[in-house]
Amino acid sequence: MKPSILIIYTGGTIGMRTDASGVLVPFDFSGIYDEFPALRRLNVNIDAITMNPIIDSSNVSPENWCRLAELIRDNYASYDGFVVLHGTDTMSYTASAMSFMLENLAKPVVFTGSQIPIDVLRTDGRENLITAIEIAAAKENGRAIVPEVSLYFQNQLFRANRTIKHSAEQLNAFRSFNYPPLAEVGVSIQYNHSFIAEAAGDPNEPLRVATSLDTGVAVVKIFPGISPQILHAMLSIYGLHAVVLETYGAGNAPTADWFSDILREVIARGVIVMNVTQCTDGAVAMDIYETGRRLKEIGVICGADSTTEAAVAKLMYILGRKLPHDEAVEMLRKAIKGEITE
Ligand code: ASP
Repeated sequence: MKPSILIIYTGGTIGMRTDASGVLVPFDFSGIYDEFPALRRLNVNIDAITMNPIIDSSNVSPENWCRLAELIRDNYASYDGFVVLHGTDTMSYTASAMSFMLENLAKPVVFTGSQIPIDVLRTDGRENLITAIEIAAAKENGRAIVPEVSLYFQNQLFRANRTIKHSAEQLNAFRSFNYPPLAEVGVSIQYNHSFIAEAAGDPNEPLRVATSLDTGVAVVKIFPGISPQILHAMLSIYGLHAVVLETYGAGNAPTADWFSDILREVIARGVIVMNVTQCTDGAVAMDIYETGRRLKEIGVICGADSTTEAAVAKLMYILGRKLPHDEAVEMLRKAIKGEITE
């Protein structure tokens, strides 16, 4: 039997086309076979849904993530895999969020998009779309080859929660610096089986989705010259529950007493502070320098080699579960969907 794939178009460049009057309008993915007759040769049944409203991904919110997760849940039994077409700007955030929210996922959910609209002759969208469909449909011995949330862009398939958008210009806009590609695409698709996660559940069971997200999360990037007033103001926000602290190098921050005092006071209020590095490559290791060790003593959680995108999504997801504080901290320290290297 042919595999069935559901394409979900959320918005973004990939689905934009110029109409007769020269205005950019969204492409109607329900007419996908008319537009790309070659898709029939894939031997896959394809349906398409367009989210309402279509958004530029700069406008995406946790509310949109919940609607997307529910849409996948509601269609889970009817399809073998899902391709989510998303604007590139925040695709790594949404894809990271899905990796946590789709709790017992056992089918492929492949995110992709493009840097050039799909009706432009030189578009990167056509190849990204076709290969994403192939990957979402790929099975071995009756089981999905990539039963996790992934992101496909320009010949590489990545674990979604390891990606960042690193280029506003290049067609290979996404990178996964701290985890190898799940697949590399040339003449054929080469899957790196040992890096692909096992299914988190049984494909015949209903999908469980977590739609209670805690949005009391802030990202604070430190910089030389950050003042006590600024740090204090940012961390005193009403409703703040967690902070992703973007530090230098291997997790280092100023050792000035005022800096530690502000953090200590914030943590004493019950706010979770997670240390991630501003570097794209490598990990936080809070034992190497005095500047990192201090943070550890205060109770800052080591974010290891997490991206900021994954840290934000994970905090919203974990805090949304309203676990006892110690249990939440315990989950934040370990990999729950392969988002950090342990
Ligand atoms: N601004 C667009 C978006 O993220 C860019 C893109 O799709 O590449 O929705």
